[in-house]
Amino acid sequence: MAEASHEQVVYCRDAASGLRAIIAIHDTTLGPALGGTRMWPYRSELEALTDVLRLSEGMTYKAAVTGLNLGGGKAVILGDPTRDKSEALLRAHGRFVDSLGGRYITAEDVGITVADVETMAMETRFVTGVLSAPGGSGDPGPATAFGVYHGIRACATRVWGAPELGGRRVAIQGAGSVGSHLARHLAGEDARLWVSDLDAARARRVADATGAVVVDPEAIFDVEADVFAPCALGAVVNDATIPRLRVRVVAGAANNQLAEDRHGDELARRGILYAPDFVINAGGLINVYLELQGYDPELARSKARGIYDTLLAIFERAEADAIPTHRAAERLAEARIRDVGRAGRIWTPRRGVRPRRFADL
Ligand code: NAD
Repeated sequence: MAEASHEQVVYCRDAASGLRAIIAIHDTTLGPALGGTRMWPYRSELEALTDVLRLSEGMTYKAAVTGLNLGGGKAVILGDPTRDKSEALLRAHGRFVDSLGGRYITAEDVGITVADVETMAMETRFVTGVLSAPGGSGDPGPATAFGVYHGIRACATRVWGAPELGGRRVAIQGAGSVGSHLARHLAGEDARLWVSDLDAARARRVADATGAVVVDPEAIFDVEADVFAPCALGAVVNDATIPRLRVRVVAGAANNQLAEDRHGDELARRGILYAPDFVINAGGLINVYLELQGYDPELARSKARGIYDTLLAIFERAEADAIPTHRAAERLAEARIRDVGRAGRIWTPRRGVRPRRFADL
């Protein structure tokens, strides 16, 4: 992706509640910046800043390539979610979100639960993806898994000529919210599954429900399979893991799967098809986007199914331009932002004329 070029970065501090947070708005060409709040025990402010800059930029690309009218943003709270979280801290964060007047809309992320975002919502209406009551879309995890499942079908079409996954071997890293639902979709189509999780009980639960084989977390990279589906943390495709992969496809939910962009190039060089993470894992974002407009679960499913077509278009573009798939996806996203941004130059009555003093020319 391009060098860091964020529109706005806001440092938030509330001594009374102990809140230290950073909100990053990467780009609002297409709409308000949407992205969850992450709470993590960062070792330094610099580490938190690096994370929020990278994550918010990823959200811009994800929204753009998915056809959503959203920009990219993200927030991080510095602290241990198991120790430092309180109602006051979450409400203070909600007030900072509110102070941006809708330029940034938040949701849940690592360390921040549905209940936490509902607490933030006491202070701001600029939240989404949280309410399971009518009109709310609830946890985005299942929607993300549904989109990843259709994304893997697109990869199958590209590599083997048909989307069916019956008998295909899939190694899933991470049996959390997304990984567990993904396993169920795949098992429903009689795929053969391997699963790993640092939390052995989680992996076991998925295995019991789907017939998956549990493997040690470190051994998941060595499983001889058709698809490797990273559904845990980022940067798992790196110098150390690539030579170990014995798959034709890497396609999963984790954000920032490539340690560096060049690792995507290396997958392509080795003939491994990579489904760019910010494309295949957009099901959750689609879900929360639709919640902003009045949630319709059927529409959400149909839009998440569209990830299949989006990925096939990206694979074709990659072939036509002779570039790796992650670079083709970035090009498509950048083209949409550029072109729609240009259309935004056109004057409309909605914007009105704001008479002010003349500019000094
Ligand atoms: P989660 O916290 O529910 O599950 C992640 C699981 O991965 C946990 O069970 C954890 O124990 C396990 N894990 C961590 N490190 C591991 C390792 N080295 N090996 C094996 N297992 C490991 O998170 P989730 O909501 O399922 O999200 C999974 C990934 O997908 C994350 O990277 C997240 O950023 C990304 N993602 C999630 C959504 C969503 O809607 N939930 C949307 C887009 C992207």
